[in-house]
Amino acid sequence: MFNDELMDDGDYARVNHRTQRIELNPIRPKSQQDESFIHELLHIINCVYNNHNMSEDSIDASGAGLFQILSQWNVEFDFSQIPKLGD
Ligand SMILES: [Zn+2]
Repeated sequence: MFNDELMDDGDYARVNHRTQRIELNPIRPKSQQDESFIHELLHIINCVYNNHNMSEDSIDASGAGLFQILSQWNVEFDFSQIPKLGD
């Protein structure tokens, strides 16, 4: 979901591990939202399936690689239907 608070913080995205909710900054360019979504998704996968064994650097590198491949295939996420925090 989109969270306006991230605009104030300047963060690209964040993940709530308790709710497994990914929050995206609505004013970031679409490509950054996609890359941030992949990054935060990897954090959830690392938590749920990998016992937190991936470092931040590994998540960063894996996310950048996945985003690169998806971009080359012209794959984009459609966030048009996701709600805004508070809606
Ligand atoms: Zn991270």
